[in-house]
Amino acid sequence: MGKDTERISIRLVVGLTAVFLLCLWAFVAYWSLRSRDLEIDSTRVTLVRLSTAAEEQVRRMFKLVEVFLDTSDLWLANHPQADPLTDPQFSALVQGFYRASGNAIQLRLVKRDGALYRIPAEGPKPNARVGDRDYFLAQGDAGRRGFYIGTPVQSRENGHWLIPISVPLQRSSHDVTVLLASIRVDYFAGVFEQERIRPNGAITLLRRDGTLLARAPHLPQLLGKSAAQTDVFADFLPRAPRGVEFSSSSATDGVSKLTSYAAMDDFPLVVVVAAATDDILARWELDATVITLVGLILTVFALAASGRLIWLLRDQERARCELFRMASTDDLTGCLNRRHFMASLTREFSRSQRHGDDLSLMVLDLDFFKRINDGYGHAVGDKALGAFVAAAQSCLRQSDQFARLGGEEFGILLPVTTVEQAQPVAERLRQKVAEIRIPTPQGVVQFTVSIGIAAYSSDLASAEELLLQADRALYAAKGAGRNRVVAAPPAGLPADTVVTPG
Ligand code: GH3
Ligand code: MG
Ligand code: MG
Repeated sequence: MGKDTERISIRLVVGLTAVFLLCLWAFVAYWSLRSRDLEIDSTRVTLVRLSTAAEEQVRRMFKLVEVFLDTSDLWLANHPQADPLTDPQFSALVQGFYRASGNAIQLRLVKRDGALYRIPAEGPKPNARVGDRDYFLAQGDAGRRGFYIGTPVQSRENGHWLIPISVPLQRSSHDVTVLLASIRVDYFAGVFEQERIRPNGAITLLRRDGTLLARAPHLPQLLGKSAAQTDVFADFLPRAPRGVEFSSSSATDGVSKLTSYAAMDDFPLVVVVAAATDDILARWELDATVITLVGLILTVFALAASGRLIWLLRDQERARCELFRMASTDDLTGCLNRRHFMASLTREFSRSQRHGDDLSLMVLDLDFFKRINDGYGHAVGDKALGAFVAAAQSCLRQSDQFARLGGEEFGILLPVTTVEQAQPVAERLRQKVAEIRIPTPQGVVQFTVSIGIAAYSSDLASAEELLLQADRALYAAKGAGRNRVVAAPPAGLPADTVVTPG
């Protein structure tokens, strides 16, 4: 019964530990995935906000350019006599725009032959020849004529990268056919640089066909390159004009990113704001590492605690068993003691009463034992008791219960055994005891045993009555000369059936 309780307790500890660990790791997994999603969601919101802001700045600058070019065109149309290269009024108008744009915009005039002049002009010689540039050629092409955003060019004067925007003049004035406004790329690069998500995020301005116009971080070698093959242009834009998507790897720097893109509806421009996945998840990875470590520590503690608890339960059970053994065995001989024997006798008697099972009881008393003690000493008496117990146990079955009832008196309970079956056992035992030889300095010690047997019958009212019957049979054996087995007759008859004379 104790073993069962122990097994149940251990199972409970193992079960509760397993449930705890399961809940713990389910929580760790749930928290990790959830916080990762939250981190990505909050980055999405940030990216949309950044791309809206960048789009607004781009729009403001391009609107200014548009107004600047329209106004210049209108002024020249209204002043056909004025030479745009030298007219002080036109020059004042242009310089007013320079100031309004914070000097991010420059105006150039291009003559029919591709000769380019600054405003105000520094003489009759052109500053450069741009007849081969896309923004000039576009204005000679009826299909593309109009507001045209060109590929970034590096200024031949100062090395600055510029985004050229050209318009045709309504009426060519003094051979000038094209107006050109250039926005400094580093204007956008500077504005974007302040906004981008560091360290690996990027903000990029592109033409609708994928030509890269400006970018932060500023990488001059990328300007004018085509991004038409990137996820944004190849996948996302054909599906929706704006959105936030994961791009597996960006063509420009090979970094996996979360990208917010927006195709502007008033200019053929696209703004792309990207955050590197590694940057977004850096803080989350740290948190996830910490919570995983905490989970591991809790797991180790839980396993250690449950291991310790199981050990304690086992130890307690061991101690309980030892206590039980001590409480139920006889110190000197190691066989059961009287208390345990009486409990077994009562239990087996009840069982026989209930089921009618056979049950035999032997009571044994060593003959003239006092003489051994007196003649050879108490220690030899003890040795004789030990030898007797060993001899008796060798004659018994596993199910038989053998106990020391006190002094040199013993009892044997034989469940499911009739008196006829018990008698040969008792006789064998008697003979075995008679064969015991204990050598001592004073000579060899021998002794005999007298045995009384009683069997369960329904006439008996209690286990005590059965014991009394066996006792009576033992007295009869003693009275008949000892070293013999006597079986009690059925209840009511005189107890003197001597089975085996010694
Ligand atoms: P009988 O044949 O009538 O039983 O004679 P007996 O001498 O065996 O009976 P008695 O009751 O006169 O003596 C029992 C003796 O058993 C007395 C006691 O010294 C001895 N004895 C009881 N317990 C122990 C024990 O634990 N060790 C030893 N050595 N002797 C014991
Ligand atoms: Mg005796
Ligand atoms: Mg006795």
